[in-house]
Amino acid sequence: MKYVVVGTSHAGYEVIETLLKEDSEAQIEVFESGDKPSFLSCGIQSYLENVSPSLDSLHYATTTSYEKQGVNIHVNTTVVDLDTDNKTITVEHDGTKEDVSYDKLFLSPGGSAVKPPITGIDDYNNVFFMRGREWADKIKQRMPHAKKAVVVGGGYIGIEAAEAFAKAGIETKIIDVAERILSTYLDPEFTNILEQNSKQHQLEFIGGESVKEITGNDNGDVTTVITDKGEYQADTVLFAVGVAPATSWLKDKIDLGTKGIITIDHHQQTSAPDVYAGGDATMVPFAPIEEDRYIALATNSRRQGVTAALNMVGKSATMPRVSGTSGLQLFDYKFGQTGVHGTEADNYDGHLGQQYVEERIRPKFMQDDTTVHMKIIFDKDSHRILGGQVMSTEDVTQAINTLSVAISAGFTLEQLAVQDFFFQPDYDRPWHYLNVLAQQALGQSYGSDQMLF
Ligand SMILES: Cc1cc2nc3c(=O)[nH]c(=O)nc-3n(C[C@H](O)[C@H](O)[C@H](O)COP(=O)(O)OP(=O)(O)OC[C@H]3O[C@@H](n4cnc5c(N)ncnc54)[C@H](O)[C@@H]3O)c2cc1C
Repeated sequence: MKYVVVGTSHAGYEVIETLLKEDSEAQIEVFESGDKPSFLSCGIQSYLENVSPSLDSLHYATTTSYEKQGVNIHVNTTVVDLDTDNKTITVEHDGTKEDVSYDKLFLSPGGSAVKPPITGIDDYNNVFFMRGREWADKIKQRMPHAKKAVVVGGGYIGIEAAEAFAKAGIETKIIDVAERILSTYLDPEFTNILEQNSKQHQLEFIGGESVKEITGNDNGDVTTVITDKGEYQADTVLFAVGVAPATSWLKDKIDLGTKGIITIDHHQQTSAPDVYAGGDATMVPFAPIEEDRYIALATNSRRQGVTAALNMVGKSATMPRVSGTSGLQLFDYKFGQTGVHGTEADNYDGHLGQQYVEERIRPKFMQDDTTVHMKIIFDKDSHRILGGQVMSTEDVTQAINTLSVAISAGFTLEQLAVQDFFFQPDYDRPWHYLNVLAQQALGQSYGSDQMLF
């Protein structure tokens, strides 16, 4: 069987590895536009902060490692067309085009950083985007020379860039049209704390402003970011305003939905026979409620990759429902979120319940006042758990995985309120903080932090 894979990041990598395990006769042809395969953007912040030693360490595989596995890898080669009737793709390398046939095709072109229509965005030096190896390299080279940076976009990618800049001593501002940082990621109870904490670390957030223009000096270097409300000096500007599926070449070839997202079923099959897709160009089935959502995460891409490959070799696999669970750190706080957010309440016609709780993690006698900030989102009628958020100065992020399991298992507040969690004073209390969270959502107080003296 001849398998053709387009793109080699999380989804493409997983498909290749699964095909190799599942089909010993597999002939695998892989096409990647970049000059090195399987680059992992999730490692960019660690590279900017000198944790990861080199860009070469941020890859799942290399051309040589793929060749050793018997995979025919073609780098610097962009797939530019698809003919589903004749089962061929057209690839372009060094200006030359060639048709390549497939028995089964997997599309994982992923996404590109959105370039907003801002005057001057293409006209000046030192304007960056945070995605892919080339941009990672350019940002890193710029950092020792940067003194004042503006990051446009306060989502998790903008936050990662801004934190790396601030830690490197660069005076950094984040500007976002939303009023809060991480506004699609965490509810205000959490972002209020994060914004305060960021300020203490010299990272300023400017919310509710829309960037309109970038200007620069006679050398062509960027100098100013102009919003609808003000002007900000910057010698370095980084845009992180979202991700757009890199699928323009697939228009009219297979079904695409809003913003060019490839339409797939839950077996990762596109509208064309023998053509599968996954990764940031597609949607995932959302566990808390019956709908598909666009949630661009490596976790989803890897699961989709396995699902697609199993179907490509003739087995039957269904993409597991996911809750978009993710975690992050910003200066002194570590946090995670999963499922539906409290800010989505308007879409639920009064049926979305939410409870925010702050609790001491350990018993008082441990002389440690560290608290956890938590929120649980639930269906007011059935009490089914739909989402959650956790945050602390210590690492409580694994608790978000527990909430993710609770969502997938269809747990109710009543079940989580008494769920068996271990107790040992170094770690927690006889009622774990997740028990307490669910109890408080139910109006109960028996697990809360009370000592009689
Ligand atoms: C800064 C940053 C940090 C992140 N951190 C995390 C994290 O901590 N956890 C997490 O779960 N997710 C994280 N993500 C998201 C994660 O990186 C993406 O969800 C994941 O990379 C998507 O994988 P993908 O397979 O869809 O392809 P992409 O990573 O989008 O890569 C697509 C690949 O296809 C190639 N390609 C595109 N078009 C063509 C074509 N026509 N022909 C040939 N090749 C093509 C590209 O060159 C690229 O190599 C992060 C993303 C960024 C940008």
